[in-house]
Amino acid sequence: MADRVNVFAGSHFDRLGHRRRDRDWLDEALQNGRAAFIPVYNDRSLVLTDPGPSAVMLEPGELASELHDGAILLGEFGDRICFAVDVGEGEPGQAPAFSSGSFRGLRTVGLTFPQDQAALLAYAQAMVLWHRRHRYCGRCGAPSQGNDCGHALHCTEPGCGQVIFPRIDPAIIVLVEHDGRALLGRQPSWPEGVYSTVAGFVEPGESLEDAVRREVAEETGVTVGGVSYHSSQPWPFPSSLMLGFRAVATEPSISLNDNELEDAQWFSREDLASSLQNGRLRVPPQLSISSRLIAHWYDDGVTGRLAAVIDALTRG
Ligand SMILES: [Zn+2]
Repeated sequence: MADRVNVFAGSHFDRLGHRRRDRDWLDEALQNGRAAFIPVYNDRSLVLTDPGPSAVMLEPGELASELHDGAILLGEFGDRICFAVDVGEGEPGQAPAFSSGSFRGLRTVGLTFPQDQAALLAYAQAMVLWHRRHRYCGRCGAPSQGNDCGHALHCTEPGCGQVIFPRIDPAIIVLVEHDGRALLGRQPSWPEGVYSTVAGFVEPGESLEDAVRREVAEETGVTVGGVSYHSSQPWPFPSSLMLGFRAVATEPSISLNDNELEDAQWFSREDLASSLQNGRLRVPPQLSISSRLIAHWYDDGVTGRLAAVIDALTRG
């Protein structure tokens, strides 16, 4: 199972959930020299690429003091107590300058990071983006205010008092197989040649396995029988949780019912490897759960083979 830890996932730090309502502890943590701040600008994180890559953690003195008040407790990472902090939104060239690092998107640098730092930065982004999108109560429209070290927002209208918790949007992603072949499709907006697994958001009132069967039927017309869980990946762009599955088709005929895909095909392992090698086909970036679902299906539980092909092509 250790092989199923996806990029941005993993229990690399103590989230200190029991400290979120402890004001005295928080005040002490902010002043005892262990506090470190993880800044988020737009949807970008401050990273050092040379030498690196690594996450830049700011010391309290590097941030305007008013930003300390809105800091969101992430947890204990090594010997530091880490907080996420929103340093604003604007043009990429207008990002605030700090003594080191530059603001980069995690989708482009996430794979190259140490796994624990990638997870910490993704968590920081998820929390900051959630705060930005919930500045007002959805029930009465009054401003919201952070509580629990930023892990809850309370409506400021006394007659309402709604509490808003961080939002996560579950989405299924599934590798469907039939008779030794895998079902892959492409959306028209994707880069040329890229094919991926079927994916879509879970709807209210729907189980995960129902969502798998519905999405596959809507996008490809294929009927799915057995569904089994593979692994999951936080995808905080802004708030998805990708839930990965494998499934077996009972009726493999393809019809593109909802026009989300412009093509879908069944690929044998031989088709897949030769199409990757001759450049007719590309798969999503290696940091995505989709790429890992495809590689694990190809390798059928034996790691390394297709992953090695993709890795060589990516580097080459
Ligand atoms: Zn309200």
